[in-house]
Amino acid sequence: ASCRAASPPGTATAPPAADLVIELSQTHKAKPDLTNLVFGTVFSDHMLTIEWTSNGGWQKPHIKPFGNLSLHPACSAMHYAVQLFEGMKAYRDADDKVRLFRPMLNMNRMANSAERACLPAFDRAELVECIRRLVQVDLEWVPKSDSASLYIRPTFLGTEPSLGVKKPSRALLYVILSPVGSYFSTGAKPVSLWADSKYIRAWRGGTGDCKMGGNYGASIYAQYEAADYGCQQVLWLYGDDHQITEVGTMNMFLFWNNENGEEELATPPLDGIILPGITRQSILELTRKWGEFKVCERYLTMADLRCALKEGRVKEMFGSGTACVVSPVGRILYQGENLHIPCQDDFPQLASRLMKELTDIQHTDYSIEIHTRFISILSPLC
Ligand SMILES: *Cc1c(COP(=O)(O)O)cnc(C)c1O
Repeated sequence: ASCRAASPPGTATAPPAADLVIELSQTHKAKPDLTNLVFGTVFSDHMLTIEWTSNGGWQKPHIKPFGNLSLHPACSAMHYAVQLFEGMKAYRDADDKVRLFRPMLNMNRMANSAERACLPAFDRAELVECIRRLVQVDLEWVPKSDSASLYIRPTFLGTEPSLGVKKPSRALLYVILSPVGSYFSTGAKPVSLWADSKYIRAWRGGTGDCKMGGNYGASIYAQYEAADYGCQQVLWLYGDDHQITEVGTMNMFLFWNNENGEEELATPPLDGIILPGITRQSILELTRKWGEFKVCERYLTMADLRCALKEGRVKEMFGSGTACVVSPVGRILYQGENLHIPCQDDFPQLASRLMKELTDIQHTDYSIEIHTRFISILSPLC
């Protein structure tokens, strides 16, 4: 605590988890039936809140009963989208151990988003510790199932109480928890995509590589246009050459024989318009470790894809993200033409293998180095 006190207010040394103030809820909500649960509709009994001011720095973190926030109507998050979020999960294994999957990667990404949003720096390890304590308090909310999990939503708002477009002098960081059932509860069905350059998700110099709320609010309109065309999600294209960037709110992978006839798993490089997914990174690390085919971060255009489909070189295409792990693509509507992506048995081979390996890592303890590196154990749980 003494080194913390020595730091000036507003520096990255806080929030200090050791100062956590815990106020337990007097009531407990009933746990939902996970089978028909709609993503993100049910929340646990508690939440974590931490306030920051430019004068006082980070205040004590609070774990308190889940409830509404009270915000100044001029609050900069509301007017200028000075806002960001994260998405991560806690998993329970067969031995009742609960784990977070690579939480420091979420913290690093959150810190990058915060910098871009002119929100204050925070101590990443201390925030993981606060989140760990929150999950511990609501441990009963981590589903006892290997296909369900507890979704964790850290959120960071500028709460500047004035209308000036400027760096907020106040901020609120909070974390809520939502139990989620299996993403594929109704069976894994390949998704259909609408590929069009009419709407752009992200651009160079923009905020597409940060998990900032404005990116998502602005994408909803295109999502409904995709639905009008009979497609489930948008395949986001970029540039005159129609580069393939992301699928809905997932990163995109193409497994194919490339132009040189090499078997290759490809995904677009992190050049500023791609959200650096933790699932994406994990898939790259895992497949590079396998060493069974070429793994490449490279540009892919619709012309590349169409040509490869014509020549029968495409094996699989899938999206990746925390919610689903992997989600196979079955069809792309592009320039009035339906492109059919090979999709044996609804869940193709590589996507299935990645799904199994990654969920095994998330739900089960392994002694292999790459696995232990993935895991942060929350026990002892008392
Ligand atoms: C969150 C997100 C992803 C996936 O990131 P994960 O860390 O794997 O969950 C991909 N694309 C977008 C646009 C996202 O917001």
